[in-house]
Amino acid sequence: MPPALTIPVVWSDACLLHEPGGEVWIGLPDPGNEVPARAAVIRDELGAAGAPLVEAASHPDDALLAVHDADFVAYLRDAWELWNEAGYPDRHGQDRVVPYLFPHPGLLAGLEPEVPTALSARAGLYAFDTMTPIGRDTWRAARGAVDVALTAADLVLEGARVAYACTRPPGHHVTRSAFGGSCYLNSTAIAAQHLRNRGAGTVAILDVDAHQGNGAQAIFRDRADVLTGSVHVDPRAGWFPHFLGFEEESADANRNLPLEPGAGDAEWVAAVANLVRWAGGTDALVVALGVDAGVTDPTSPLEVTAHGFREGGRLLGSLGLPTVVVQEGGYDLDSLGVLVLAALEGIEEGGRS
Ligand SMILES: [Zn+2]
Repeated sequence: MPPALTIPVVWSDACLLHEPGGEVWIGLPDPGNEVPARAAVIRDELGAAGAPLVEAASHPDDALLAVHDADFVAYLRDAWELWNEAGYPDRHGQDRVVPYLFPHPGLLAGLEPEVPTALSARAGLYAFDTMTPIGRDTWRAARGAVDVALTAADLVLEGARVAYACTRPPGHHVTRSAFGGSCYLNSTAIAAQHLRNRGAGTVAILDVDAHQGNGAQAIFRDRADVLTGSVHVDPRAGWFPHFLGFEEESADANRNLPLEPGAGDAEWVAAVANLVRWAGGTDALVVALGVDAGVTDPTSPLEVTAHGFREGGRLLGSLGLPTVVVQEGGYDLDSLGVLVLAALEGIEEGGRS
């Protein structure tokens, strides 16, 4: 039998509450794949490997409001109640908040948008896509995911070398004031800010999800105290977030490493090694652990295997830094748990060598 995984797995039942109920893509209803079972599958796999489960503790809003604008947070918190009270479920048969109109920079021509009176229009003020509906319990799940990430950060601040936040919905596409890509609050960025608030001098966020971590890039791009690096499928090959994620966006504290579709273990592990070398010398690490680069994942053309995730984990662990790992994407329910376990085992092994 392999040795038991000792990395604490932080969990909250609140993360299961968000039911997207599908999404809208090019105007068509799509069943979507950011489902509650994702988190449960990962939790069960890690539990079977012997990892200790830790219940998330509730946290105040300070790190949350240092990363996201207050009006954006208030909108997410109240959006469904207001939508429901305004009668959209009864009158129109739509019980999710879904935008149809967006304050495009070309529409505004330099003017600041007003907050629209109609909730159907207000829904476009903070959302950047139609794939990220807000349901009755979305806020509770997204805020619960933040508590999971903050509890994992606390464990590391208290001396654990690594802690894992078993969260959903994911968060790494969320900027200071806009959400999308099945994400609502940027738990990874909030955990990094929490580490800074509690004394870490510099923090590196390394995002290995198959899609670019545009949220942390937008939030921390001008700050030397939080490095943001991302390895992901090349948006020029036609992949989300499409408008962002190019190598030439990289700046002093930001690094983008796009990979071609079909890239597998060798290319992906080399890119992780590049990010690890770059992040050396920081005081703490936050890993945005999406496993949708996995070869069987339906949302990306990358072809990384469990072996690759373990190798990448070893490299991340070899930094020897206090490390918070936050779950992001990964949508193949049959392989999700195995890939996360491989990455965490790698991180644990890398820290020993
Ligand atoms: Zn992803």
